[in-house]
Order: sequence, then structure tokens, then C-alpha cells
Amino acid sequence: MPTLRSHILISGDPVSLARGAEAIKGAVESELAYYALTDEVAVALSGNLRLAPEQLPAAVIYPDDVTYGPITLNDVPLIVSEHLYKGRIVDALQITTKPLTGAIVRVPAREGALFAQQRVVLARAGIINPESIEDYVAHDGYAALGHALTRMTPAQVVQEITDAGLQGRGGAGFPVGKKLNLVAKAPGEEKFVLCNADESEPGTFKDRLIIEGDPHSVLEGMLLAGYAIGARVGYIYIRGEYHLARERLEQAIRQARAMGLLGEGIFATDFTFDIHVHSGAGAYICGEESALIESFEGKRGEPRIRPPFPTTVGVWGRPTAVNNVESLANLPPIVKNGASWYRSIGTAKCPGTKVYTMLGDVNVTGLIEVPMGTTLRTVIEVYGGGMKQGKPFKLAQTGGSAGAIIDASFLDVPMDFAELAARGGGLGSGALLIAGPDTCVVDLAHVLLRFFASESCGKCVPCRIGTTRAKEILARLADARATLDDIHQLERIANNMQAAAFCGLGQAAAVPILTGLRFFRNEFVAHAEQHCLAGVCPMRGEPPAAKRRFGRKELATAA
Ligand code: SF4
Repeated sequence: MPTLRSHILISGDPVSLARGAEAIKGAVESELAYYALTDEVAVALSGNLRLAPEQLPAAVIYPDDVTYGPITLNDVPLIVSEHLYKGRIVDALQITTKPLTGAIVRVPAREGALFAQQRVVLARAGIINPESIEDYVAHDGYAALGHALTRMTPAQVVQEITDAGLQGRGGAGFPVGKKLNLVAKAPGEEKFVLCNADESEPGTFKDRLIIEGDPHSVLEGMLLAGYAIGARVGYIYIRGEYHLARERLEQAIRQARAMGLLGEGIFATDFTFDIHVHSGAGAYICGEESALIESFEGKRGEPRIRPPFPTTVGVWGRPTAVNNVESLANLPPIVKNGASWYRSIGTAKCPGTKVYTMLGDVNVTGLIEVPMGTTLRTVIEVYGGGMKQGKPFKLAQTGGSAGAIIDASFLDVPMDFAELAARGGGLGSGALLIAGPDTCVVDLAHVLLRFFASESCGKCVPCRIGTTRAKEILARLADARATLDDIHQLERIANNMQAAAFCGLGQAAAVPILTGLRFFRNEFVAHAEQHCLAGVCPMRGEPPAAKRRFGRKELATAA
């Protein structure tokens, strides 16, 4: 690799691309050519730089660690001539700083842009060019794979991951080492790794940004999983709308094949592994692992009866390790740094970090990675920059649309799978919806149930009928046409869904209802008495009050 004086990374997330990031990159290249700097400065479109939408598109210049944003084509000549040619920072275009409180310091070179998170999965995102395997390798990429293939047996890799205590980051929190062990020990010569990148939960977009920012980390995680279980092939089932993420994965696969990191005899060993990408067609249920396998095999995406579990009967009836993107991206740092290093991060029961997507009434929305056990209050005040317009906190929905609606009593609870579950909450996929007092819980639950009723695959009655009836009751409550009996009926339906639905979708669809009733029952009762305490729902005889906060469209496009 040639040694370069500077690197300039231009944000390549969908917002930046829609605002002309590629044209800005072209303009930077032209200006560099004008100043004869093309041999000294590299330009690349990067993944998400974890900036607020109003700060995009942005550019980070290394090694100076200076972030400019939002920038336009007109700003390019000044940045290149002043910063890259004359070595003077253009203060007027730098991203403005925001004061922070608390013990957490931020990365000084990117004040106001990227607070000092403890990054494990996203360690390289926004720092390397995600389209360059050389950049990935230069930042210790594929070092864990080399170490595992040349110095560890497959059983030792499984043991290291088991000892690290990594739990699946897709929502259920199943121990990853245990899953790999089950597949490794399952009878059969042919086994598969299946990466679940069908991230369809409204408000959840962490996996997309992990892939867009550092696609090779997912490939390396799959290679490690494949080595651990004795698989020769891995598949990535990716959400159909994730075009940029798919392009980056396919490019990364081509690069890895060209470098001999995929294919036969990897690292001059007898390990052979290849990866293929498959796009989904847009059904929420296909995020459920057995429905995903059905869809992957070309059938209608419906969950399978379990047992047998995919660990023994998965893709085409073969043992399959189905793992989420974030879970797989955790494997390289665990193998490289060891289980005890990983256990030094996070909590005793849930080691490691968690990538959250934050949206709603906070000043800074987007993606963060923090140690497990970080409280909701820290997330809001430090990383979210506080509540929008100084509103008081009213509720959070943790874990995406199927997550629990929790109240202010959870603000200081260390967030991890165990702690939240013990208190009736749940970490789920890691989407955090934060809301102030102008959010109506009944309105929110109604929107969520409209989503679940529409996405129910229809295979079982408790979910197919339950989501529809619950949606109808919530619509009546929101329109002041319901009674107290309707609330009891709603609770009964939700309890039945949770107990009897065939798969996690129907069971989880009950969670926002039951937790909403648990923590905000007074709001449901008030609606039955024709009052909306948040002043959101138009009550009988009243003109429509405030505009409703959440619509399916808003939640679905919040990413
Ligand atoms: Fe289908 Fe819902 Fe039943 Fe799952 S719970 S099988 S999504 S109908």
C-alpha cells in the first residue's frame, strides 16, 4: 500500500448520498488533481459517521481528525485548498460542538460529532474506507481469522466465544457459543452459516450501518463461525431494501476471494469457505430464523415447527448456525483479544457492548455503541444530547416495535438482557424510541398493532385474529368509542397472543400492549372515559387536537 499524507472520508450513508455525497467526492478528486495532490491524499465514501442528519453530508480528514459538515459542492475548493494544500483548518465549516455532561469524555478531534463510545463492533466504521479490503487489513482486519486458523482448533474457537459470554444481538439473547457448539456437534458432514441481515423492525437500522461501515467484519465473523462449526459455505440473507449494504457486501466478497480470504486453502490451511448473498422480498416475519430459512429455500416465509431447531435441521435440512449481523461482527474482536478482554466490557451477566439505534424526542438520533449496562439516562443525556426542546422524559420503547414500553422508573436501570427482562422490559434488537409527554401511549400502541396486524403471516389464529382484534380495540380507544370492558378484552387478547402464538412475532406483538397497560394503564382508562391525557387523540365532540405523533410511515422511515 502506498503511504499517503491524508485520507478524506465522505459520509456515504443514504442521507448523504441523496444529498450529493458522490458528486462531492468527485469534486474533491478534481480539486486534488488541480493541486497535484492525488498521490498524497486518498478519498473515499465511508459508512455512517454517526452524525445528525442536519450535519450531512460530512467529510472527515485523517490523520487530523477534523470533521466538516454539512458541506456542499461549493465548500470543496476551500476545504482542499486550505486544509489539504495549505494545512489550515477551515473553522467555519467544522461541525459545531455541543457541551456534554457526565463522566464520559468524547473524542476531542470530533467534538459534537462522535462521542467517546466504547466501540467494538463499530471500531472501524467511519474510520476506514468500507470499500477497501486494504484499509480493513491495515486496521487488524482478518488478523483474528489468521490467528484462529493457524493457532486454534475449531473447538477452541467455540470455547473462546462461549467463555466470552456473547449473547445473540438479534433480540433473543441466546448464547452464541452455545449455538455454535450445538451446530458443531450436530451429526452431518454438510453445515452452514446463515447471517440474518433481514433487519425489518421499524426504527432498527444498526445492522445496515454495521454492514455499510465495515462489511469485512461481518465476513470475518462468518468465516470464524464457519471454521468453528465445520461449515464450508455461508449465506447472508439481507433485507431487500438494503441496496448499498448489499453492494458493499458483494464487493467485499469479491475482494476477499481475490485475496484468498474466501475460497480454498485460506491462510494456507485446509479450511475452505465461501459466502453468498441473498436478498429478501420485504416480509417482517422473515427476520424470524425458521421463516428466514423457509424464504431462503424459495418457499413462503412462514415459521417452522420447532424442535427440531436450525442447529440440527436448518438450511436444506442441514445443521445451520443462524446469527445476526451484530453477533457475527463481535466474533473477530473476541477471537483476537480473548474472552477475558471481552468480559471486561459490559456487565457480568451480559458482557460486551450493544449497538443502539436511537430515535424520537432526543436531540441527536442515530447509532451508538456503548457497554452493556449503560443506563437509559446516560444514553439520553450523553449520547442523545438530552431531550428535545427540554421536554421531560415520559417513556421509552426498548427493542423496536415489539419491545416493551417502559416509564421513567427504568431510567437508572443498567440496560442489558438480564436486567431489563427481570423488570418486565426487554433489550430486543436495540432500537430505542424515546418520547416526551406529548406522546400518547394508546396512539403509539395503535400504530404498532396496525403494523403487526399487517405483518402477521396468518399461519396461527392467536396472532392472525389477535393482532387484528387488538388493533380494532386500540382504534376505538384512540377515537373515544371504547369502554372499560374493551380494555379488559384487550388485555385478554394480548395475554392469549403471548401464551399461544406460534412464533415470536405474535408473542412479541403483545408486549407493547401489556407493558403499556402495566406502566400507563391510567392513559387507557382515560381514553375509555373520553380523555386523552397527552392531548393527542381527538375525543368525541372535540376538534382534532395535536397532530398524532407516530404513524407507521414515520416509524418505518426513521432510519
Ligand atoms: Fe405467523 Fe403470527 Fe403465527 Fe408467527 S405468530 S406464525 S407471524 S400468524
